[in-house]
Amino acid sequence: MADRNQRITFARSPKGLPVPEDFGADETPIPTPGPGQFLSRTVYLSLDPYYRNVMKNSPIYADRLAPGDVMVGETVAQVVESRHADYAPGDYIAVRNGWQQYALSSGQGVRRLDPLIAPVSTALGVLGMPGLTGWAGTVHLGQPLPGETVVVSACTGPVGSTAGQVARHMGARVVGIAGSAEKCDYAVRELGFTACVNHKDGDLAAALKAACPRGIDLYFDNVGGATLQAVIANLAMGARIVLCGMIEAYSMDSPPPGPWLGPVVGARATMKGLVVYDHMHRMAEMERVVSGWIREGSFRYREDVAEGLASAPAAFCTLMRGQNFGKALVRVGPERA
Ligand code: NDP
Repeated sequence: MADRNQRITFARSPKGLPVPEDFGADETPIPTPGPGQFLSRTVYLSLDPYYRNVMKNSPIYADRLAPGDVMVGETVAQVVESRHADYAPGDYIAVRNGWQQYALSSGQGVRRLDPLIAPVSTALGVLGMPGLTGWAGTVHLGQPLPGETVVVSACTGPVGSTAGQVARHMGARVVGIAGSAEKCDYAVRELGFTACVNHKDGDLAAALKAACPRGIDLYFDNVGGATLQAVIANLAMGARIVLCGMIEAYSMDSPPPGPWLGPVVGARATMKGLVVYDHMHRMAEMERVVSGWIREGSFRYREDVAEGLASAPAAFCTLMRGQNFGKALVRVGPERA
């Protein structure tokens, strides 16, 4: 075990897209657990788009950051020292250690992981909060019927790839939207989608019309903006839209003008807002079904792993520019110490 704790700190609120200078770095002594606490070492740090909103101290999140604070975030960690009755050295857990190598916990909000179910890194992606988002938004809000056309944006990320593959398992015809030919190829070849449209490749509304000749019955929206507008132009009668994420707007100071909603009226469509924290009680249901699909080979996922805690700021900036390909993670330490 190292004798110092490396940390990445919050330096300032980004102006527009984040840059590495918005973060700082320091080191502290490794803390010692008190009664009822345990110390864990971070193995994987999750990079999630919502951190950008936390960095502007958005009131919708409980986290508050002041300059010099360690950056908040979800991690997979291994217990190294324990004075807690339920956790022993060697246990793998999902815990909010933040952007640092070591942290203390009282066990609150901690999820125990079984490395035999799936690789532990998936607890931050398709078998964690992002996967639950895709699962709950599809199974419980969107409710696609067999044969319906489902469109998913950011379709190769952990939320989108889960939403799309769940819809495919429910019998829907799935069309992805992604930001490169390589991502689109992966969506069709590996994720089993019927088609995938590159939103950087010309007229998106026309490309969606060609890929969805009977219109779009369900749209799982991860990005908002011009993509949402192009989908709204292609809605089928009685369509549903699950509003999940608006990543482009996270780096703007004020919200962009809304899309033209006239076609929503014409299609008698329904729009529903999705907040994953309303669905935490469904985590075990999602984990059971999706991990079964992973083991039988009918559900694929991809990870985009940066090496070492020091690479976290640059990797987060890459994510916020849409240049990640798969769940954005940082390997902070080896899986086995
Ligand atoms: P991803 O790994 O999918 O990464 C984000 C992707 O968004 C990029 O790779 C990129 O994919 C796409 N993108 C499109 N436009 C932009 C843009 N202007 N700037 C940056 N990226 C863009 O992320 P997640 O799967 O973790 O999250 C997907 C969405 O779900 C996010 O908006 C997130 O905030 C939201 N979310 C919402 C939750 C809720 O409770 N409602 C919970 C969890 C996540 P491409 O190149 O293919 O376009």
